[in-house]
Amino acid sequence: MTEPRHDWRRDEIEALLTRPFNDLLFDAQSVHRAHFDPNAVQVSTLLSIKTGACPEDCKYCPQSGHYNTGLTREKLMAVERVLEEARQAKAIGATRFCMGAAWKHPSARDMPYVIEMVKGVRALGLETCMTLGRLDADKARALADAGLDYYNHNLDTSPEFYASIITTRTYAERLETLDHVRDAGMKICAGGILGMGESVRDRAGLLQQLANLPVHPESVPINMLVKVKGTPLEHTEDLDPFEFVRTVAAARILMPRSHVRLSAGREQMSDELQALTFHAGANSIFYGERLLTTTNPQASRDQRLFERLGLHPERREEFDDDTLDLAIQQTLGAQRVAELSVDAAAR
Ligand code: SF4
Repeated sequence: MTEPRHDWRRDEIEALLTRPFNDLLFDAQSVHRAHFDPNAVQVSTLLSIKTGACPEDCKYCPQSGHYNTGLTREKLMAVERVLEEARQAKAIGATRFCMGAAWKHPSARDMPYVIEMVKGVRALGLETCMTLGRLDADKARALADAGLDYYNHNLDTSPEFYASIITTRTYAERLETLDHVRDAGMKICAGGILGMGESVRDRAGLLQQLANLPVHPESVPINMLVKVKGTPLEHTEDLDPFEFVRTVAAARILMPRSHVRLSAGREQMSDELQALTFHAGANSIFYGERLLTTTNPQASRDQRLFERLGLHPERREEFDDDTLDLAIQQTLGAQRVAELSVDAAAR
């Protein structure tokens, strides 16, 4: 097994993305099998702990205060309510609980609440993940000290295309946040969004940035743009779905030990397309009825898809297999995970 590289050139990645489809998928599946159980998919749930009115102007995002999407804004949720949601998530089988807030960055006033949420969710025996916007070194350390396992902060797209999508936060600031997260000892969840009108070279540029981080992100969400009415990207031309699969396959080859997550846009995908992305090396999904503010496939559809493909949820070492199997089956069979919605394109 070769060691993962961190010195990928853009033209190498472009060449990967444009290889004959069958060759690319064969290699991606081979890499996947060398590092993971090919039939296991990690399942997370996510709760929006503060919704809408975000000061950033991400053109894809219904939570941005710059656009009128009819989204109902919600203030920071009370800690006890978050913990109640986490308890319910655990009861129906979640192993990781992700909490997302539509902020530019967490304020000093909000930090104590956020820290209580991390401690409380951890005390329930769940892995914790948060996405709160930009972090400085002190806030990253405070979250790590509280026991936060993962921090999600996406790069979204290539450095060149980025300014067409977001003007209120720089690419360099995003990379800086990832540095702080890593320095504080937390795991990184970072990926991007496809279908925003970017070129193949931009997709290669995004993957290059992720793959050349000093340590690969443990989790790499690959989102398909969800075109939300009222956002500037509402009328963007559809991406060829095969380009999506190619990007997942390239991510798998470039970051062989990372979980590649099929995130936002999954509801718009056919079962066949999802199956192809699993074959290309995607091995993580957000599970729930909504992705923060966009809908996510119904639980029963996920359950049927897992059954049809012979997939099973990835096990966590802390759980014995039978307990986890039962819990996960309940999770996948449950009709109401309701507000345990999932992050998405957001962030
Ligand atoms: S993606 Fe995140 S930072 Fe950007 S507008 Fe939406 S909530 Fe704010």
